[in-house]
Amino acid sequence: MTVVGVAVILFSLNAGLAVVALVAVPLLVAFTLWFMRAVEPRYAAVRSSVGRLNTRLENSLSGIELVKTTNAEEYENRRVRAASEEYHRTNMDVLKLSYFYRPGMELLAGLSFAATFVAGGLWLFTGAPPGPLAGTGAEGLEVGVFVTFVLLTQRFVAPLAQVSNIVDWYENAKASGERVFGLMDVPARISDDPDAAELTEVRGDVAYDGVSFAYEEDGERVLSDLTFSAAAGDTVALVGPTGAGKSTALKLLLRLYDVTEGEIRVDGRDVRDVRLASLRDAVGYVGQETFLFDGTIAENVRYGRFDASDEEVVRAATAAEAHDFITTLPDGYDTRVGERGVKLSGGQRQRISIARTVLQDPAILVLDEATSAVDTETELLIQRSLDRLAADRTTFVIAHRLSTVRDADLILVLDRGRIVERGTHEELLARDGLYAKLWGVQAGTIEELPRAFVERAKRRGANGGAADGG
Ligand code: ADP
Repeated sequence: MTVVGVAVILFSLNAGLAVVALVAVPLLVAFTLWFMRAVEPRYAAVRSSVGRLNTRLENSLSGIELVKTTNAEEYENRRVRAASEEYHRTNMDVLKLSYFYRPGMELLAGLSFAATFVAGGLWLFTGAPPGPLAGTGAEGLEVGVFVTFVLLTQRFVAPLAQVSNIVDWYENAKASGERVFGLMDVPARISDDPDAAELTEVRGDVAYDGVSFAYEEDGERVLSDLTFSAAAGDTVALVGPTGAGKSTALKLLLRLYDVTEGEIRVDGRDVRDVRLASLRDAVGYVGQETFLFDGTIAENVRYGRFDASDEEVVRAATAAEAHDFITTLPDGYDTRVGERGVKLSGGQRQRISIARTVLQDPAILVLDEATSAVDTETELLIQRSLDRLAADRTTFVIAHRLSTVRDADLILVLDRGRIVERGTHEELLARDGLYAKLWGVQAGTIEELPRAFVERAKRRGANGGAADGG
């Protein structure tokens, strides 16, 4: 506004001298455009190097135990230092440019003032030179007009020089904004169908119908043609070697991924036709990795059902065999856990996460049985609470210790994404197939698995997926 206003006044006072005063404006604009083009990729580089530095730091801090036990401090130091130096370098790249641009803008604006002062001063004494400026009024320059010019030109160069700050900030913000929006614009892989219905009053009938799945489009099939069903209240166990696709099969039920072929129905409705939130309300998940948020124990139990009363929390914790140890903690249910609180053992964390699921009270339960070694007593407690949790709901268990699934209504033996055997414990033992062999090894009646089987498991372990010794 100031620039435009001053320009209008200058032109109306003396067009010739106004041209001299404003000749720098196109230069300033050209300089700014050049700067914007040059600095943009450099700011983008700064943002991504900050991202890398943060990832590096987060990574080595969360893996601090591994770093220490493997004496890798020096290695991690070097990696963080390298990321930090890269950040420094990209920042310097920007600064070099900005420290050329900002004073450059001021210099140009200052030159425009000097030119006005010198040209106007000369013209006062000599009259305007002939040529393009003839007839613009420069020849009749008066002292009063000249003084006005000197004052107004100063008014006018200051805001122009300030534009450089704004341009610099703008470019910086733009680089950050592009990263943020780049992330926000990634389409969600799984989202609600516009006509998705609410899944209410879930009984818990689950059916897999010709389900095939690949993690990537045209990628390798991880599951092929899975067909089975569970009536409300049934317990279905999935067993089989690591990498067979057990976890994947159950992730599809929670709709963390969508099936590639076939369909999964809950109470006769395709999971893709119901609202995601209502599906996940109906399916509880207790995994191997139990995650607790920084906060109190009660908050962690309540997670997902934030309106639960204190009594409900205690009841859920009691059912999960967690009440007793919680009451021995310094502040009971208000004890802080996580980063700024007490550290809990693996078994205790597991029981809190079971309590969370008890409180959720889902019609369908998915249990990824923990393989981590807890003492026998804790294992017993966890097993007892899980049995209680599973009693009156449809339950899917990924079992590593076959002893825990003897009583399942249906046992599915998966191998390389296919159901290779199915039946109850007794039926499968009678078949004398893969299940019977796995059972024999775990029960100690068979010394070892067939060689070919072990070799395959080894190969699978080598190209990803932790071996679990199962
Ligand atoms: P299980 O639970 O029986 O050990 P998984 O379902 O975890 O088996 O894995 C089945 C196969 O899918 C494995 O070959 C594994 O490498 C692959 N897999 C698992 N998770 C992913 C993923 N997020 N992306 C790509 N492949 C995966």
